[in-house]
Amino acid sequence: MTQAHQLLFRVFAFILGAAVGSFLNVCIYRLPVDLSINRPRRSFCPACKQPIVWHHNVPLISWFLLRGRCANCGAKISFRYFAVELLTALLFLAVWQAFPWQIAVAYWTFVSLLIVGTFIDFEHFIIPDRVTIGGIVAGVVASLAVPALMETNSRVAAGVRSVLAAALGYVILLLILEAGKIAFGRKRIRFDTPTPFTWTKREDDAAFVVGSEKSLWSDHFARKKDRLLLQCDEAKVDNHTYGNLTLDFHYDRVTVENEQFLLDHVNEISGIARELLIPREAMGRGDLKFLAAIGAFLGWRAVLFSLFAGSLVGSIIGLITLVAGKRVWSAKLPFGPYLAFGAISWMFFGDVFLQWYGGLLNP
Ligand SMILES: [Zn+2]
Repeated sequence: MTQAHQLLFRVFAFILGAAVGSFLNVCIYRLPVDLSINRPRRSFCPACKQPIVWHHNVPLISWFLLRGRCANCGAKISFRYFAVELLTALLFLAVWQAFPWQIAVAYWTFVSLLIVGTFIDFEHFIIPDRVTIGGIVAGVVASLAVPALMETNSRVAAGVRSVLAAALGYVILLLILEAGKIAFGRKRIRFDTPTPFTWTKREDDAAFVVGSEKSLWSDHFARKKDRLLLQCDEAKVDNHTYGNLTLDFHYDRVTVENEQFLLDHVNEISGIARELLIPREAMGRGDLKFLAAIGAFLGWRAVLFSLFAGSLVGSIIGLITLVAGKRVWSAKLPFGPYLAFGAISWMFFGDVFLQWYGGLLNP
């Protein structure tokens, strides 16, 4: 190819990425709230619900020209829209530069799935099945179509490797999840005698004391959907008194006999408890399927690498937020984005990593 051709293809990859990023924004907004992604066809403003005309919907450019506001009602449009378009455009370009075109097309699909999964996980602490299971299916199909993804010439071998790598991703994370439950998960505690408890607001956290056991409130919750149930003989929520009830806690709210209190507005909860129930999972099932999709596209080594790199970066960021004192309820971080980070690192630098690792083993 001449240089002019190469440049043309690069520009094309970038613009295609920006356009796909614009569509991914629609998926990120609509998938978790169960809105159809093709109806209405036109994008609409989340604030005033007005359809966005095409010349206000040009990827990257419109967000700048409208200064991040809706042209109709002036509502602020999240910076995320711009960020997703730019990120997708840059990754599409990088993939195009680094890989032969058949692999690049497969990786474009993969990168798109990672971006949707990551941004939905950030906001909702879930990764929808359409992203994860869809990703597994797409990965196996891509491997059958482009066996080079699985480093073989045989379609059958590529399909089998892809399926096995997906299974490895699911099973390895499932084992960690189950091991975590055995190590940390005291899920149901029935007290021998009725036991007094208190929940007391402490700045942006709370002290939770049951009997003689003291704990920080935020330590009991890893995800938005986590719950803590406390069966009580009696309980007091600020000035309200109740008898024989179950306190149904989420990290930021408590439901008592169909009445909901935001914990931000509550100073103290106390009472006598009989049983504590934590129906919790250390990780969402979405993460298992997400890692399986990574395996289906990148193979078994990428599963191990993504898990390792993701856990490492996750712990480092967790430590930083802890040291910086920024660890509040809302600062709980999902795992999906770290897995995605590991997968993208592997995609571009897996070979370098393997060479370095091989050098360590055979100096
Ligand atoms: Zn609007």
